[in-house]
Amino acid sequence: MNDQLLKIQNLTVDYRSSNKTVHAVRGLDLNLRPGETLGLVGETGAGKTTTALSILRILPDVAARVLSGEILFDGKDLLTRSKKEMRQIRGRDIAMIFQDPMTSLDPVVTVGAQIEEMIMLHADLPRSGLRKAAEDMLEVVGIKRERFDDYPHQFSGGMKQRVVIAIALSCNPKLLIADEPTTALDVTIQAQVLDLMKQLKKTYRTAMILITHDLGVVADICDAVAIMYAGEIVEYGTLEDIFDGHRHPYTEGLFNSIPSIDVEQKTLEVIEGLTPDPTNLPSGCAFHPRCPYASAHCAEERPGETQLSDTHYVRCFQCAPSKEKELQHGRTVVERL
Ligand code: SF4
Repeated sequence: MNDQLLKIQNLTVDYRSSNKTVHAVRGLDLNLRPGETLGLVGETGAGKTTTALSILRILPDVAARVLSGEILFDGKDLLTRSKKEMRQIRGRDIAMIFQDPMTSLDPVVTVGAQIEEMIMLHADLPRSGLRKAAEDMLEVVGIKRERFDDYPHQFSGGMKQRVVIAIALSCNPKLLIADEPTTALDVTIQAQVLDLMKQLKKTYRTAMILITHDLGVVADICDAVAIMYAGEIVEYGTLEDIFDGHRHPYTEGLFNSIPSIDVEQKTLEVIEGLTPDPTNLPSGCAFHPRCPYASAHCAEERPGETQLSDTHYVRCFQCAPSKEKELQHGRTVVERL
């Protein structure tokens, strides 16, 4: 049995206009097992959403160019599938939830009919069974089946996002991609939607890619974490690798910018400088103009992946595994050189 549901290798995507090229994703590698939840973390413009749109093959045709790579889903390359095959895969095998539920819902169609339509397109079910299946899905996401005939404007923001989740899960996809699914919601509603996603993850064993800039959300729901910066993954590991043993200076900056409840802080630390212009990326390591550990070498050469353990890698010249030192529980310690 194939234990990798999704395997992306060396994915490179540019956006081109008449006089500029945006380097959106640069040599990205990523693996996801069935039932696993991966957090894709980074600032706006890091390439997270482009990665998701590439998997679904819904990049804007005119501007986007996939320059290299393969996206193996269930062992077959999505980049070589026909448009017809991709239409079947979207919704049935891979579904996506966007940040703003109103961009996904049709305001003039009842929520029940929208769930029915998705089931009709992708599931092998007689017409007579559609309404019951759609009503069941509403109940799965905590909405009473009596609300089947209501329109999206009759629901609150959190309820609309629940409807979007119901549509996405109605064909029991193997992979769910959620792009900042709670960002547009109030904090209490965010917690409810996250609880729902956790519960659905347990029940359906759906693999998930959760795109977010919020490490709290990642800690709550993810099994693995990929930290993206300037179109590439700069650190990748299990939740424990990243939360207890992160090594990349950018990851360190992200964690330092989170308020702590243990220590009294008057001001939060910030990562100095701005995210780089993707049309004109810095030479060498793209993080070097902002990195407190940068050396002259960092501006000259782009760091490759340094494998720190079976599950953890980092792209930084200043991090190397040290075989001599071992933590008490046997994990290899990585020292900044
Ligand atoms: Fe900083 Fe150099 Fe590591 Fe880049 S390679 S993160 S500039 S130390």
